[in-house]
Amino acid sequence: MSYRPIISNVEEASNNEKDGLYEFIFYLADGTECRTFYNRYPEWKMTNITRLQKTPCPVCRKDFICRCMESFRDNLQQQVIDNEWLEKAIVK
Ligand SMILES: [Zn+2]
Repeated sequence: MSYRPIISNVEEASNNEKDGLYEFIFYLADGTECRTFYNRYPEWKMTNITRLQKTPCPVCRKDFICRCMESFRDNLQQQVIDNEWLEKAIVK
């Protein structure tokens, strides 16, 4: 069965509002956590995503760095849009 990440929460980790650069932590339903970077201008765009190495990768099962989450970027971005996760993370 192929892996399907589901975002359960998003937290803002850091930002540089002047340049429109934001760092978010994505908490996935299976316990996986990802660090993502966004550029706000001209529109919100994910520029990087890496898995935080707290739990083994749900895709390849490695507990060190891998690039698996890259392939779910579009899926995760769509969830972010559909659920307005970034707006919720920024407005606290
Ligand atoms: Zn992996």
